Amino acid sequence: MRTVDLIQRKRDGEELAPEEISQLIESYNKNGIPDYQMSAFLMAVYFSGMSDREVSALTEFMMRSGETVDLSGVPGVKVDKHSTGGVGDKTSLIVAPLAAAAGVVVPMISGRALGHTGGTLDKLEAIPGFRTDLSIDEFRDQLNRIGLCFIGQTEQVTPADRKLYALRDVTGTVESIPLIASSIMSKKLAEGIDALVLDVKVGTGAFMKKQVDARRLAQMMVGIGRRMDKRVQALITDMNQPLGFAVGNALEVMEVSQTLQNAGPADLTRLCLELAARMIFLGKKTASLDEARNKAEDMLVSGAGYKKFKEVVQAQGGNPQALDRFELLPNATGMREVTSPRGGYVSAIDAEDIGLASNLMGAGRDKKEDSIDPAVGVILEVKIGEKVDAGSVLCRLYYTTEEHVEEAADMVEDAFRISAQRPEPRELILEVVG
Ligand code: URA
Repeated sequence: MRTVDLIQRKRDGEELAPEEISQLIESYNKNGIPDYQMSAFLMAVYFSGMSDREVSALTEFMMRSGETVDLSGVPGVKVDKHSTGGVGDKTSLIVAPLAAAAGVVVPMISGRALGHTGGTLDKLEAIPGFRTDLSIDEFRDQLNRIGLCFIGQTEQVTPADRKLYALRDVTGTVESIPLIASSIMSKKLAEGIDALVLDVKVGTGAFMKKQVDARRLAQMMVGIGRRMDKRVQALITDMNQPLGFAVGNALEVMEVSQTLQNAGPADLTRLCLELAARMIFLGKKTASLDEARNKAEDMLVSGAGYKKFKEVVQAQGGNPQALDRFELLPNATGMREVTSPRGGYVSAIDAEDIGLASNLMGAGRDKKEDSIDPAVGVILEVKIGEKVDAGSVLCRLYYTTEEHVEEAADMVEDAFRISAQRPEPRELILEVVG
């Protein structure tokens, strides 16, 4: 089988057999196929798409390209949650402890900030001392003891995805639904999970700008999981404005602490309760989803989720007191207000621009190896639908050096649209798939 034949067949819209996909992935992983041929193949997939059978085969062979985590020795149903990435999306830090407090085992392997979106590992590492580089043995041990552990991806898991993602990044082939679905699912399925809740974001701050694409991605990921005998559900949720008020690592940890004490923003709390309920339900802790919703709420209101989070912080070397005493978290040294140029209603807040402004001040990275400043970010004072006067504060920028603050302030000001009419209220949870 010649690689060029497979490229041509995919280019012409033919379906490849699982053995052909296996050969491509295995050979590429062992440097048997040059980047220029793999790039051509990826571009052919970008234009021709993939059938369900092809996307499942691609996921499976990427998953098998490296080590898979064996959690069979950890009793209980193992359930993870994955978000396709957004701005101010700190849900993992809230949802995982709520589900774990309800008895679900949550093995959470997360990523770092990329582009305008934040990353769970960077948020956790804003807590002084918090370690995310635990070994797989330590990961298993903590799951047995506490039922929840947060770690980063190791070099040994899904190496083929890492190689392909780097190539996609420089060949204009990231935005392909089958390639995104197989990339995400190969990593999640390598974690040894039984079930998965997906939060597929759609809107200005998300990968998927259109709901029809978000739906297709959600359906594809749910299908891949099901064909591998995993219980998978996806929520499609709005990312046309940041989630909650805080954007930036330590600022988001503060909001996580408030939310786990049932004093968080309404949108964030609502989404976290729904995601946690679905994890509890898929984790077979309740007989119905409604019961799971009650359970998730109990875990929030009783403080059991907050207690679980502190236990995990302590177990992973972090200082749990920092969750009550925010002066122990990295703090910004300067603050700049951004005010409304006129009165009216907030009708849009471009989440991508807020994420990029926060990154400009140091919260995110342009390249994988860049370091980040955990203290900086943006706190919104208003959300879509609220009335503002001319001169009202729209948000506050927190910084540690003044270098990019004015540029960030201009960007943030442009991100807000103020209209004479009150906008229609919008749904946060748009659809459920699976
Ligand atoms: N996240 C991933 O892990 N892979 C993609 O392809 C896109 C987002």
